[in-house]
Amino acid sequence: MLDTYNDHVKGAELCAKLGSNPLLSQGAGGNYSWKSEDSLFIKASGMWLSDAQYKNIFVEVNRSNYLNELKENNFDVDLINYSQNGLKPSIETSMHALLPQKYVIHLHPIKVLSVLVQKNWKLLIQEKLKNSSIIFNLIDYHKPGKELAEAINISKNLNSSANVYFLKNHGLIVAEDEFESFKNLILKTLSLFSDGKLDEQDSYSSELKISDIPNYLHFNHPVISKLISESIFQETLEKNWRIYPDHLVFMGMRPTFSSKLSLKESEKECKPVIFFEASNGCYISKNHTKAQLAQLRCYFDVLFSIDDYSTIESLSENDSLDLFNWDAEKYRLSVQR
Ligand SMILES: [Zn+2]
Repeated sequence: MLDTYNDHVKGAELCAKLGSNPLLSQGAGGNYSWKSEDSLFIKASGMWLSDAQYKNIFVEVNRSNYLNELKENNFDVDLINYSQNGLKPSIETSMHALLPQKYVIHLHPIKVLSVLVQKNWKLLIQEKLKNSSIIFNLIDYHKPGKELAEAINISKNLNSSANVYFLKNHGLIVAEDEFESFKNLILKTLSLFSDGKLDEQDSYSSELKISDIPNYLHFNHPVISKLISESIFQETLEKNWRIYPDHLVFMGMRPTFSSKLSLKESEKECKPVIFFEASNGCYISKNHTKAQLAQLRCYFDVLFSIDDYSTIESLSENDSLDLFNWDAEKYRLSVQR
């Protein structure tokens, strides 16, 4: 019990630190787990890593039952949830449960994402890690949950010494048995992606201002100003919209441009929550959630880190629809704040 308590305290401290940096984790995205005997302690779906130190964001699930099912190649297991707090384990619990290492973190770091959304992501990552001693696996895009867990399991069996995983159009996993080495490995991996741009949190201003449209605020970001000045705002957004799961789930299948909007409707209902105008930029409803604002900022931060948008590979229409209509994601949206 004492070990579990200690793991909870140090895990919560790490989650709060990393989770409060919008360049590493946005809203309810990302998750953390640790293992203790037969149990896996994992962040609950819809919870924020940044809240970890002042509320219990974790649930305890049975791991040994899941591992037994895994031996039969069954990834579609309902994990036994011991927690009485009414929370559900993260959508991404399976990949935490199957990795052998004691501590596992999954993040969506802007700098890593900006590489993972590119067509030649494998080469770029190999290049960045070539002089490091980090052992890593590269995982093609798979729907989070069962499909992604299956792909990670296959690659883990092929290269079992890997403790860093890069997930195409998605994010990063770091896993270690010893907590201090775990923290060091996270920092070491992230540092390889640092390029001086956007490295300091709040080194640029992305902010909300009063707008000329009732019930909407104007959202400013350097990328928006740049794209508007080049008259390629609408084209760029439409072409490069669905680039990772959380953006799609929180921001919708395609960007809404004001020409499709009846402003009278928007005044009454503040819908859509976010829309764009080709010449004026981005508007967000005054009733937006913190999660929507975090995802909006994340998207433009990712674009900010990419020099040439023709290198971007978006999610396919089918993969996007699969995510958009997924009940597990609807649950996550329903508990957003
Ligand atoms: Zn994720």
